[in-house]
Amino acid sequence: MGFFMSHGAKNCVMTTDTRDIIIVGGGTAGCFAAATAAQEGLDVAILERKSEDEGGHIACGDAIKGKSTFPDVIDLDYLREESFTNENIQRAHFINPKGDNHDIPFQDEAGSVIDRKRYGEVLLEEADREGADIHYNTVVTDVIQNGRVTGVTAKRNGDTIEYEADVVIDAAGALSLLQDKVDFEGTRYDTNVDYSQFCSAYREVIETDQPVEYDDAIVFKPTDELGYLWYFPRTDREINAGLGFQMNKPPMPLVDVLKRDLEDRPEFENARVKNKLGAAVPTRRPYDSAVAPGFMSVGDAAGHVNPTTGGGIPGAAKAGHWAAEVAADAITEENFSESALWEYNHRVQTDFGKRFAAMDLYNIFGSAHEVDELTDIVTALPAEMLVDLMGTKGETSLGLIEKLKTTLVTAFETRGHWGTLREGYQVSQLASELKSVYNQYPSTPSEFETWQAKRDELMDRVYETTGADPKY
Ligand SMILES: Cc1cc2nc3c(=O)[nH]c(=O)nc-3n(C[C@H](O)[C@H](O)[C@H](O)COP(=O)(O)OP(=O)(O)OC[C@H]3O[C@@H](n4cnc5c(N)ncnc54)[C@H](O)[C@@H]3O)c2cc1C
Repeated sequence: MGFFMSHGAKNCVMTTDTRDIIIVGGGTAGCFAAATAAQEGLDVAILERKSEDEGGHIACGDAIKGKSTFPDVIDLDYLREESFTNENIQRAHFINPKGDNHDIPFQDEAGSVIDRKRYGEVLLEEADREGADIHYNTVVTDVIQNGRVTGVTAKRNGDTIEYEADVVIDAAGALSLLQDKVDFEGTRYDTNVDYSQFCSAYREVIETDQPVEYDDAIVFKPTDELGYLWYFPRTDREINAGLGFQMNKPPMPLVDVLKRDLEDRPEFENARVKNKLGAAVPTRRPYDSAVAPGFMSVGDAAGHVNPTTGGGIPGAAKAGHWAAEVAADAITEENFSESALWEYNHRVQTDFGKRFAAMDLYNIFGSAHEVDELTDIVTALPAEMLVDLMGTKGETSLGLIEKLKTTLVTAFETRGHWGTLREGYQVSQLASELKSVYNQYPSTPSEFETWQAKRDELMDRVYETTGADPKY
C-alpha cells in the first residue's frame, strides 16, 4: 500500500509516501485509530519512532478497568488472553499514613492489571492485521502545511521521508512535538497548554520472592506533594510500583522517594527490579478543540487522561477510534476543514471529556490546600463518601450532599477543616454544573466561542471558591 517516490543522493534519500491517513505514534490511541481506519477501507500508515522490538514499551501503571473499556475494532479476546495478567482486581486499597486504611470495593466489573509491553505489541499486531502499515524507526520531525496540514516529514535510518495525507492524526503522546510545528492561527485548536498541567511519573516492575497479600487490589498511598504512590499487582509476585507529582509543584526525586517506600515494605525485601521507565502524563482537562484543518490529536496528545488518577488508556482508545471514523467521513466528502472534523471534538467532550473536565476541578481544589490538610479530611470521612465525592463520576449525588451536610455537623475529627470541607462540597456542585456545560458542547465551530465563554465563567467561580491560581 502507499505510493512511493525516491530521489536524491545515495546516503540521503528523499522519499515521498502518499496515504489517506498518516498516524504519528503507535501507542493505544494510534493503534485504535489505525485499526478503525483500515476497517473503513482506508490506506493508513502508523509512523513509530521506536524499533519493532521496542514497540509497545510504554511507561504505565498497567491498571485498567477491563476489556469493556475498548472499542470493538480489534480482537479483544486475543488482547485479553495475551496481556491481561491479573483480572481479579476487586478493590482499591488506600493507605492512610495518618489513620485507618480505606478499602473501596469495585461495584460492577473487576479491574485488571496488564503486561503493558505485551498489550502494546498486540495492539500493533492487530492494527497490522486489520491492514494498516507500520513504519518503525521513523521519527516525525515536522509537519507539511499549506493553509492546512497535508503531511509530515520524518527521518528513518538517516533518510528523509515526506508522508502526504488527507488527514494527519497526532497520536504522539504527551507534549507531542507536532503541536509546536502546526500553524494553528485562525483555528480553535487548544494552544492553552503548559507543562504545569502535566504530571511527571515513574514506575518500576518488581518481582518479589513471596506472593503479596494484595493481588486482588490496586493500592494507593499519598505522597508528601500532591500525588500518589501506587502498587498494582500484575500477578501475585510481579508488582508495578510507581509514583508521580504535579509539575506545578517543586520537582520530587521520584526514584529516591519510591526507593525509600520500597525499603519500608517487607514484601520487597530481596525483590528484583525487572524494568524501569518514566514519562509525563497530562493531568488537565481534554483540549477544548483537538482539530485543525487536516489535523487531529488523540489520546495523551489531546489531554484525554483522567486528571485525578492519570488513567489514560481508555480515553486514548476511544479517541483514536472516533477520530478515524470522523476522518473517514471527511475523506469521503473530500472536506478536511476544521468544520468537517469538528464532530470528533463533540464526541469526546460529551462523553469522557465532561467527566475529566469535572474531575480536574478536584485537582484545582487540591492545589490550593496542603496535602496534610487533605489527608486529615480523608482520615475523618467514611470511605464511601470519599468515593462518591471524588469518584470517577465527577459529580455529586443528592444523597451524598445530604450525607456530607450531616458529616459537617457531626464529625468531630473534621473540626478545624469545616471551611475546606464546605469548599469541597461547593466544588462538587460546580463539577456537576460543569458537566452540564460540556453536554452543551457545540456541534459546529461557529458556536464555540460562546460555549467557551460560558465554561470560563464557571471556571472563574471555581478559582474564586477555592482561591487556587488559575490553571488555564
Ligand atoms: C508512569 C505512568 C503510569 C501510568 N499509569 C496508567 C495506568 O495505570 N492506567 C492507565 O489507563 N493509564 C496510565 N498512564 C497513562 C497512559 O499510559 C497514557 O494515557 C496512554 O499510554 C496514552 O496513549 P497514547 O497512545 O495517547 O500515547 P503513548 O502511549 O504515549 O504513545 C505515543 C507513541 O508515539 C510515539 N512517538 C512520539 N513522538 C513521536 C515522533 N516524533 N515520531 C514517531 N513516533 C513518536 C511514541 O514512541 C509512542 O509509541 C500512565 C502514564 C505514565 C507515564
